[in-house]
Amino acid sequence: MSHPARWHKLIPLALAAVLAVGAGSQVQAAAPPDPKAQAYQNAELIQLLRINTPTAADKKRLQTLDLDQAESSGKNFVDVIAYGNQDRRFLKLAGFSWSVLEDDLVGADRDREADDAAYAKAVATKAIKATLPSGRTAYRQLADYTNNMAALALQYPTKVKQFTLKNSSLEGRAISGIEVSRDVNTSSGKPVFLMLGLHHAREWPSGELTMEFAYDLLKNDGVDSRITNILDKARVIFVPVVNPDGFNLSRTLGYEMKRKNCRITNGQLPSAGQCAQSANQSRGVDLNRNYSGFWGGPGASTSLTSETYRGPSAFSEPESRNIQALVSAHQVTTLITNHTYSNLVLREPGYASAGNTPDEAIYKALGDQMAAQNGYESQFGYELYDTTGTTEDWSYYATGGLGFTFEHGSSFHPAFSNVPNYYFGSGSTAGKGNREAFLIAAENTINPARHSVITGSGPAGAVLRLKKSFNTKTWNGTNIPDVLDTTMVVPSGGTYSWHANPSTRPIVVQQGGTESWTLTCERPSGEVLETRQVTVARGASVTADLTTCAANF
Ligand SMILES: [Zn+2]
Repeated sequence: MSHPARWHKLIPLALAAVLAVGAGSQVQAAAPPDPKAQAYQNAELIQLLRINTPTAADKKRLQTLDLDQAESSGKNFVDVIAYGNQDRRFLKLAGFSWSVLEDDLVGADRDREADDAAYAKAVATKAIKATLPSGRTAYRQLADYTNNMAALALQYPTKVKQFTLKNSSLEGRAISGIEVSRDVNTSSGKPVFLMLGLHHAREWPSGELTMEFAYDLLKNDGVDSRITNILDKARVIFVPVVNPDGFNLSRTLGYEMKRKNCRITNGQLPSAGQCAQSANQSRGVDLNRNYSGFWGGPGASTSLTSETYRGPSAFSEPESRNIQALVSAHQVTTLITNHTYSNLVLREPGYASAGNTPDEAIYKALGDQMAAQNGYESQFGYELYDTTGTTEDWSYYATGGLGFTFEHGSSFHPAFSNVPNYYFGSGSTAGKGNREAFLIAAENTINPARHSVITGSGPAGAVLRLKKSFNTKTWNGTNIPDVLDTTMVVPSGGTYSWHANPSTRPIVVQQGGTESWTLTCERPSGEVLETRQVTVARGASVTADLTTCAANF
């Protein structure tokens, strides 16, 4: 689908004629002014609008206007951020009506800082008792995330391993995460629960909730039997800030409404300070449209200045490639990617015509179970609006691990006092909230009925590898190669139990086919001593005794 640049539609006919003459006489028309940069410069109001969209056709029509849609919609509305007068004029020209949810988003930020100071004071004087596991009273800056993860690794050396993802961000920042488990440095075949935050820069609570769950697990290991069990049986991986460049720009208020990454020109790294320049505010790739699954389909734009720009090709961006590499190197049986806002628990598929996934029964059951605790709506991704190239559009169809997008709360980054409410629940979910939903996701991770298990005998110390190569198709059918390559080490007892995703991908299950894992048994040097093909369905367990490997190890 094509998204003509907005300014084309706004040029009055007379001016268009002048430009046409100019083009004919080889005079270059100046680039159109960036409406966002202009709105900031002119101090025009940046507003959150609820656009009336009574029919599905209205929603589709609104999407083609390529405005900055919030991740929030209902049966009859979609929320949109309007940057100054031009966006409002554009909506009016297109015949839309709306109500104003927030008449001054920049002013709202000043109010938020005052609220945060009051909240910090209330916590300090113990007027508020239910504080977050980390005790924080204000949104983290980027360095706080890095420092917190390093401190946890230092404090809990046998339970926390800090790691750096494969690619630096476009501005050259290292992107880190932590693995949390009992005996975290032992590669023991536990299933993995992956939690992600801040794909989208302005969605600050998405990083906070991710970090707080890590603190909670560590603080309550040995205290809360559910959490003790989770650390015994699962490896929980946290990447709280997937998009550090964008987040830093938003959090330091350089450009608070930043959503995307810092790609200014396709194929080129930004120069120092370029991303922060007001003329470049609209540029960037939407990392949550850049994954290969159905890449380039509905709900993603071809324009670099659109807030849903998919990028020039699938996985063109280092930040999305990082998550691809991370998921491909672990048996991630459950995944939550945190976003704001809309109070939703979203599962696949992301676009309506895809049809239900072959796992719809358990996928829905888990989504509903989590939503009952945080009070959100449990629904298909496309019920928000059609999307393609999102994290789970790739991860679910490539691995079979059940992936969810959580859209928290009712604005991008409200006063910080809302974060404890999101975490512990408030109103009808008081005392539960997302903490309980996350625990349910962690317990789903270790539930063998929800993944596959391969067990058997093998020589202690041998490296076992499960590997699979295939192609993921983009929307237009281009094949993007994927390699899932995961390892574990046979424990000292000489038997192993590996919790993995099913060998057949959902997309192949849908077509009635089967696939197998290639299981190899190797010396630590990498020398392969035995190779087996293993076919195992969801909820099933198979035995593979590696006798040839044992005889030659
Ligand atoms: Zn988001």
